[in-house]
Amino acid sequence: MSNKIRVIVSGAGGRMGKEVVRLVLQDDELELAAAVDRSAGDSDAGRLVGLEDCGVRVTSDLEAALAGVAADVLVDFTIPQSAYTNTALAIKYGVRPVIGTTGFTPEQIAELDKQCQEQEIGGLIAPNFSIGAILLMKFAAQAAKYFPHLEIIEYHGDQKLDAPSGTAIKTAEMISEARQELRQGHPEEEEIIEGSRGGYYNGFRIHSVRLPGVFAQEEVVFGGFGQSLKIRHDSYERAGYMPGVKMGIQKVMGYTGLVYGFEHFIE
Ligand code: NAD
Repeated sequence: MSNKIRVIVSGAGGRMGKEVVRLVLQDDELELAAAVDRSAGDSDAGRLVGLEDCGVRVTSDLEAALAGVAADVLVDFTIPQSAYTNTALAIKYGVRPVIGTTGFTPEQIAELDKQCQEQEIGGLIAPNFSIGAILLMKFAAQAAKYFPHLEIIEYHGDQKLDAPSGTAIKTAEMISEARQELRQGHPEEEEIIEGSRGGYYNGFRIHSVRLPGVFAQEEVVFGGFGQSLKIRHDSYERAGYMPGVKMGIQKVMGYTGLVYGFEHFIE
């Protein structure tokens, strides 16, 4: 009997899902139990991601896959509208969810935690699997104790709809928990062009840069007397999320209940 972790990938035909299929097929400790995508068509999962045929067909019905194969973990990168149902289905079948899809409400997270507890399995919902981005947040929160004057600058592609990014908001929240209350800048400062000073959050500013060719970058600039400190993270491609996804897959095998946020795994 193999002691590999058997993984179902949901959203296998999507941009993140394909990276996960590639990770699972190329990692000796993981095995692809099933690949599900509601619009990828009937194809071999290996071929779909540019590798050799692996003998697992991409199917469109997650519940049929959960009922039909023995699996340990479901990795889901689909759409916010499907994420809750997919997670609840996995838990119902005793398969540990590792969810990258965004858009869960606090009530849904609490309910899914209850379901994981009842089934005595672990689960993870992580809006950001990038270990580097999580470290940036932690380092920035630590630095804010000593450098309360700061600005966040985040860079994304020009087709991104929301600003600031979810990662920048999370960074701002973590900084705010550690930083003394302070409204930075001159009390009478005035914007000659609207928006010049960026978005206001708890006394500091967040700036969103949108340019073609950029994937995801974030910088926190701290200013003190006679010195400054910059903490910066650059993401170049989706493969950069995969070490975090692998760590999540391994971690959920070892605890009970739902963890929300990858930062809980990074000491
Ligand atoms: P995408 O549009 O490229 O892929 C989504 C895939 O899911 C598509 O192939 C679609 O056919 C499939 N799908 C939709 N509903 C489904 C269902 N009910 N069952 C099975 N398959 C279904 O999107 P993407 O860029 O891969 O992003 C997917 C999600 O992951 C988004 O919510 C995005 O915000 C999130 N995301 C999270 C992280 C992270 O670190 N947690 C990183 C990047 C993206």
